[in-house]
Amino acid sequence: MSSDSVTAFEVNGRNYQLPSQPVVVICIDGCADEYLSVSMAQGRMPRTLELSRQGYRGMVRGALPSFTNVNNAAIVTGMPPSVTGICGNFFLNPDTGEEVMMNSPEYLRCPTILTTAAKAGRKVAFITAKEKLRTVLGDGVVSLNGMAFSSEKVDEACADTHGVDNAESIIGKQKPEIYSGDASVYVLEAGAALVEQGKANFLYLSLTDFMQHKHAPEEEESLAFYQALDDQIGRLLDLNCVIGITADHGMNAKNKGDGSPNVIYVECLLKEKFGDGLRVICPITDPYVVHHGALGALVMVHLDNLEQQAAIADYLMSLNGITEVYDRAMSAKKLELAEDRIGDLTVLCGRNVVVGRTPPDHDLSVLKGGLRSHGGRYEEMVPMLLSRPLNESYSAKAVGDPRNFDIFDFTCNGA
Ligand SMILES: [Zn+2]
Repeated sequence: MSSDSVTAFEVNGRNYQLPSQPVVVICIDGCADEYLSVSMAQGRMPRTLELSRQGYRGMVRGALPSFTNVNNAAIVTGMPPSVTGICGNFFLNPDTGEEVMMNSPEYLRCPTILTTAAKAGRKVAFITAKEKLRTVLGDGVVSLNGMAFSSEKVDEACADTHGVDNAESIIGKQKPEIYSGDASVYVLEAGAALVEQGKANFLYLSLTDFMQHKHAPEEEESLAFYQALDDQIGRLLDLNCVIGITADHGMNAKNKGDGSPNVIYVECLLKEKFGDGLRVICPITDPYVVHHGALGALVMVHLDNLEQQAAIADYLMSLNGITEVYDRAMSAKKLELAEDRIGDLTVLCGRNVVVGRTPPDHDLSVLKGGLRSHGGRYEEMVPMLLSRPLNESYSAKAVGDPRNFDIFDFTCNGA
């Protein structure tokens, strides 16, 4: 059977219909809906506005914790973290007692839509801004004749390991700086170049939230950044791509009235009151500390014994700024998490608050210009945009409880 004759595939119990045009799903990292609203209202995203008028624009619920890896893993599989097993960037491995980065593919517990599309004969390209995502989620794509590379390390891409040689010359641009808006724009430019040259027809393009961490929606830096994204979205529209756009999480300012970060140091407070025998893990922790100083809106508490668990949970809930505390079983149920990949307690905080471990664990000096971060309940709702209007059954689904990790489903099946 020729690959062109494959019009559908199934993965993780869901069926995906393949349109004849190229499919492009974009995850605009950290894209709270305000960024789109403000940019569109100021005339800076004309092509994206056109896309949403012709197709669909609405809000969807992301996965918690509202972190990058958690939601990208959910998006590329169509499954919640309870199934993917990716419940943070960072976790305490119960087998070894070590705190480890979830940066290798063995942590992912189910196959991806990308590898399945590649098996079905589609020319798959998985392009990320951050190298960390490529390594966790890109596994298997290259061995199936697909491509997987990051703008962060595009100069290291080669056929054996990334499915592409001379990527920079194909894209027509040199590697961007990772701490920049260009790192994201480059991902879209790369995707558009691959479609233009007939090298890919099923793409997942995942950006980085450096700009959203640093700039509020109304700042000129944000507007110029979204305008540059819009140029590339327009380029993909002109290539007749079927486009789905969502975000992994939103973004909120997390500062006190004086502009300093509004942090609750959970491990300090708990050790002072309950003694040693506990450890706080910040699952937002990743190599990109300039973004957030490892401060997010959710932490896990690991206890040496569970005798004090209820007292600790009550104490945490009594603190101003802490909004939700769940034990392991309740976290698994309410937050759709994998019980063996989380702490004894999961702690979430308010919209303008972050939770941390101890002051020495977080270098606030890297956070020039105030802290904007994510990870909790208030960064859970994100936009979804589709270039084609929804059919009747997906219109009904869209007014129910659609998820950001339904984006491939909506993009492939919704029209
Ligand atoms: Zn993110």
